[in-house]
Amino acid sequence: MTSYVKTQRTFSFIRRYGWLVTLIIALGGLWAPRLGLLVPPIMAALMVMSLFGGKYWCGNYCFHGSLFDTLVMPRSRNIKTPALLRSRGFITLFFIIFMFALARRLITVFEHPGGADFWDRLGFAFVLTYLVVTVAGSALNIFLNPRAWCHFCPMGTIQSLLYKAGKYLPWTDSWGKKVAIKDGSLCLSCGKCSRVCPMQLEPHGELMNSKILHNGACIRCGVCTRHCPQNLLSLETPSKIFHKKEGNIIRLEKVR
Ligand code: SF4
Ligand code: SF4
Repeated sequence: MTSYVKTQRTFSFIRRYGWLVTLIIALGGLWAPRLGLLVPPIMAALMVMSLFGGKYWCGNYCFHGSLFDTLVMPRSRNIKTPALLRSRGFITLFFIIFMFALARRLITVFEHPGGADFWDRLGFAFVLTYLVVTVAGSALNIFLNPRAWCHFCPMGTIQSLLYKAGKYLPWTDSWGKKVAIKDGSLCLSCGKCSRVCPMQLEPHGELMNSKILHNGACIRCGVCTRHCPQNLLSLETPSKIFHKKEGNIIRLEKVR
């Protein structure tokens, strides 16, 4: 059984301090509900990015993800996410319930359009959604591991669906980054990449077969690439993955 370790995951300004946005919207929104109007642009941004980047947003820009990786991680038990929470059935059911609840809130708001408080009511519908994710996600992640919520987060589900659609677009191959291994023969099979992976994937096992990690649950956070003792892993765009051996580029692989 894999024993997971807590490591540095925040390699950029947004990943280090994005959690402030989460608290401003989720808690500040209780007093200033219009802060919730920031949520639709955030959702739009992650949806556009997912068309070519899959769950890249989750690993690099998500403000909740920043909260989980900074404030929650030190307090988390960091144990394995139960298979049920990763199952397609649970992910689908949770997505339907979550979206139904959000839709109901929005329908209630739009039943009485206009009025001085319309934008407050609309913002508050999103504040509540943000707050639920903040509180429920943090509690679950403290109990299990810092990214347990991310296995079934509805925003992640939306990204997965859009990425499937995005594969038919011409730019997916050029922009979307994936984890790749330079030379599998140099792998020590130490499993460190798996032990540090926030999504509890097994990059080294999967990369032995395909050289590129196609796992849809990968949030492309680059944590595994930073911690491989052999420096074998990298985040690359699939259209141009260079395999280097003894300092020489020996192969340029085109991947579809
Ligand atoms: S496989 Fe690597 S890039 Fe993907 S989620 Fe795990 S640590 Fe992040
Ligand atoms: S951390 Fe690097 S060397 Fe260790 S198993 Fe993963 S890819 Fe191989």
